[in-house]
Amino acid sequence: MSERAGRAPDFRPDLIVVGGGVAGLFAALCAAQEGRVLVLSKAPLSVTTSTLAQGGIAAAIGEDDTPSLHAADTARAGRGLVRPSAVAVLTEEAPARIRDLEELGVEFDEGLSLEGGHSRRRVVHAGGAATGDRVARVLAGRVLAHPRIRVLEGVCLRELRVDRGRCVGVVTDRGTISARATLLATGGAAALWWRTTNPPGSTGDGIAAAYRAGAAIADLEFTQFHPTALVDSSLLLSEALRGEGALLLDESGRRFTDELAPRDVVAREIAARGTALLDLREIDRERFPELMSSLRERGYDASAAPIPVAPAAHYFVGGIVTDLDGRSELPGLYAAGECAATGVHGANRLASNSLLECLVFGRRAALAALGDSAGSTAGSGPDRCARWGRNDRDLTPGRCAVERVTAELRQALWRDCGLVRDAAGLERLRRTPHLLASLIAQSALVREESRGSHFRADFPAEDPAFERHVVLRRGCEPTLERWL
Ligand SMILES: Cc1cc2nc3c(=O)[nH]c(=O)nc-3n(C[C@H](O)[C@H](O)[C@H](O)COP(=O)(O)OP(=O)(O)OC[C@H]3O[C@@H](n4cnc5c(N)ncnc54)[C@H](O)[C@@H]3O)c2cc1C
Repeated sequence: MSERAGRAPDFRPDLIVVGGGVAGLFAALCAAQEGRVLVLSKAPLSVTTSTLAQGGIAAAIGEDDTPSLHAADTARAGRGLVRPSAVAVLTEEAPARIRDLEELGVEFDEGLSLEGGHSRRRVVHAGGAATGDRVARVLAGRVLAHPRIRVLEGVCLRELRVDRGRCVGVVTDRGTISARATLLATGGAAALWWRTTNPPGSTGDGIAAAYRAGAAIADLEFTQFHPTALVDSSLLLSEALRGEGALLLDESGRRFTDELAPRDVVAREIAARGTALLDLREIDRERFPELMSSLRERGYDASAAPIPVAPAAHYFVGGIVTDLDGRSELPGLYAAGECAATGVHGANRLASNSLLECLVFGRRAALAALGDSAGSTAGSGPDRCARWGRNDRDLTPGRCAVERVTAELRQALWRDCGLVRDAAGLERLRRTPHLLASLIAQSALVREESRGSHFRADFPAEDPAFERHVVLRRGCEPTLERWL
């Protein structure tokens, strides 16, 4: 049963999972094979970035494909910065995780899609462009029915509990909860930017909490801007449309870019023109029923005229530094999904690799966290699951961000740390009192080059000296690290 905040759960978890997107739900199911799991989510399970995912999940399951080809494409998109061991794990375990989803009840469509940056058709999808929603629904159904999992929606993580250098649970707006291990699956931070494809709750709460508690965070300068969001809207017009032949046109109706080039290249090409037109007239639009009806609801007829699009902040590459089993640098704390920095994406994420990352590393983190025998249940006394409030609360996502996210802050990120950055804007942003925004600016200042999704007008070329990750630890100077 899912419980809205207000009921006191009589439940002693082995593992707390914060986040109810695909990473959190899949991790919870994997962990529940052996232990009791409490899932907390500030927004309803139906309102996550995961439910919005359109394109699909990449996996080398086609006859002409192999994990090493998938790995090579991932590394190419990551511009020399991917962590090879993490990419090997991601691509080798991908087919097995797709089978897991099928066994859980996800019905994928026939055939594989081609997306930008992929050299093979390797993207599985469900319901046309409704993949994330279909997958998340199946996982949520399984999680809610599982006898060893409890779900609390409308509960907001504020801080991590640390005792003698170990994470021993969470502090939420409803009280404190202890467990042997805590797994953050709180998603990314792209909603900090003014134009975004993400729901308002993607504000990087888990990343900031982990940093405050003593975990390392990295790669914050890499935010992927999706090239084709509907203008004046957060509606994403998926890469799969371009994979099926949709064209990008300028105002005079001329093509100006390779539609399947990496996202950062296409996004900057469009941004340089302000907006562009996405021509869907010649493609098989019936393959994308949800998208077409979303466009119609907004007054656009894709069969009649090209659709105006512009870039929007879409995916937060950086996050909490983890090893290949989701372990952060803070004992007892694990992370998976968009809030983690495993190194699989390098300087830019390959399309459809992020739901895959949620599955592969969500499972690994869950299994490692449950086996975390060093864990003490310190603090397992009266405050365990204590003090849950009684009032029903507003479940509007974004209402309980750890730090307030104002319109001014979001405009500042868009202006000073958008598709094209420079030192003057980043210095300005670094002075913001918002912790994560200032850390993003700090990371972008350190990277005095342009690579992948990070483009500095004052350092427009790639510099081999920066084939390293910018890692931040509380109280320390940023370090540049190589991850193998
Ligand atoms: C429009 C769109 C289309 C996309 N399409 C694709 C695609 O086709 N393929 C692909 O691979 N990727 C795609 N992505 C990216 C992908 O959807 C995400 O990277 C992925 O779903 C992230 O999953 P997650 O579980 O890590 O986080 P999320 O799904 O964002 O879930 C985060 C969870 O954490 C909770 N949370 C956050 N902060 C707190 C807090 N303080 N306290 C308690 N709970 C908290 C949230 O309520 C939520 O339940 C797309 C993204 C967007 C926006």
